[in-house]
Amino acid sequence: CGIVGIIGNTPVAPQIVEALKRLEYRGYDSAGVATLEYGRLARCRAEGKLRNLEAKLSQSPLSGHIGIGHTRWATHGKPNETNAHPHATDKLAVVHNGIIENFRELKAALEAKGVRFETETDTEVVAQLVTYEMRQGRPPVEAVAVTLPRLRGAFALAFLFNGEDEVLIGARHGAPLAIGYGADEMYLGSDALALAPFTDDITYLEDGDWAILRRKGADIRDASGAMVQRPRHKIPAGS
Ligand code: GLU
Repeated sequence: CGIVGIIGNTPVAPQIVEALKRLEYRGYDSAGVATLEYGRLARCRAEGKLRNLEAKLSQSPLSGHIGIGHTRWATHGKPNETNAHPHATDKLAVVHNGIIENFRELKAALEAKGVRFETETDTEVVAQLVTYEMRQGRPPVEAVAVTLPRLRGAFALAFLFNGEDEVLIGARHGAPLAIGYGADEMYLGSDALALAPFTDDITYLEDGDWAILRRKGADIRDASGAMVQRPRHKIPAGS
């Protein structure tokens, strides 16, 4: 299972699939990509191997310059296309590795407020919580900021927002997540190996960190919301 996010200046879906292939060694049962097509969220997901996803993408390509991707190792909900990530609402798409341990309570509270769920996953509760906060008028960064402290368990997350071509958000809590720096492009990945085709300039988020990526760089915050600096590493070629 793995996570990838890219904010760049060319169609990112092929790069996302390339990075996901480099995470195949972790095992997975399904895969998916979401990008912004002319500002609007679009997804492509498939059960089974990445070549199934590639076959679908060659039938109906995604051309967006910002996107997220995922290989799933199902923990909650069957490994089918409906439960494959990215999970999406009209506001955002999210990919997730790990488990949201308190998802049943969070889901019940949202359902009591009238929110309808489409999947059996623990992940969808994250999509619906952030969406709920955005409907209350919070901008994306603030909606994520109030949601993260409510989640229990071990997880890494990446968010893409409908109509927001300039921002990706990643978060790490008990599961690894790295940031890659490019020339006017930025990357998120479960490890540096996934990002090696694009950059050797890597920051590893620390536990509890979350990061707001724009094409020009990243703002990293710790669990308290304070801005923090994390070291940048040159990853030797060939690793
Ligand atoms: N718990 C999530 C799911 O079952 C994410 C699993 C993963 O790490 O791929 O969909």
